Amino acid sequence: MKLNLYPAFEALSLSHEICYNTEKDNNGIYQLLDFSDHRSSASRGNCRFTRGLMNGYILHTHPYGSKAYPSSEDILQSINSRHTKISFIVTTIGVWELIYKGNKSVNNKNRNSIMKRINDMISEPLYDAGLLRGLDRSKPQTITKKQLLNKIKRYTIRVSKLLEKKGIKGFKINFTHIHDIPDDRLYNSFKNKSKKKKKTKRKTKR
Ligand SMILES: [Zn+2]
Repeated sequence: MKLNLYPAFEALSLSHEICYNTEKDNNGIYQLLDFSDHRSSASRGNCRFTRGLMNGYILHTHPYGSKAYPSSEDILQSINSRHTKISFIVTTIGVWELIYKGNKSVNNKNRNSIMKRINDMISEPLYDAGLLRGLDRSKPQTITKKQLLNKIKRYTIRVSKLLEKKGIKGFKINFTHIHDIPDDRLYNSFKNKSKKKKKTKRKTKR
């Protein structure tokens, strides 16, 4: 699926996160529809996808200065919301996709321990990632793309493993680095990317 992420990248300079529903246009491109709860003055956590027309593809932003990775609430929301197929997060370092194909949800007993573990341990290497982030916000973290991608790979594996231990199977996080997103912000979801990979594999076999 192809998404027009232009409005979300523009919204990264706002001081609060923006939530979007998506709608497929006549060209087959998913366009973003602002679905923020503007009654809330909170700078985050104001995305509540409980009302309105839903096709299961939702998106929200983590603006400059906020965490550039999914929050533990984002992860639990994508698992426990029956209507969410893919939850996209646009951040200053790139785009995240949270995908859950299982049918179990996180119960209240496991909820706090999972959130604590993700916040305190698993996300720790990514605390400073992102623009205007970290202890000294005037100095961007000096880290290569390769180093960042390695950190993110470890992070996604650890999240999936933790959830599996708690009986939640089939949760996956994908990440696309900001440099791999085209300037026009027309973004190809991993749904397409995996297809392409299979094709090239077949070719090399021949
Ligand atoms: Zn979030």
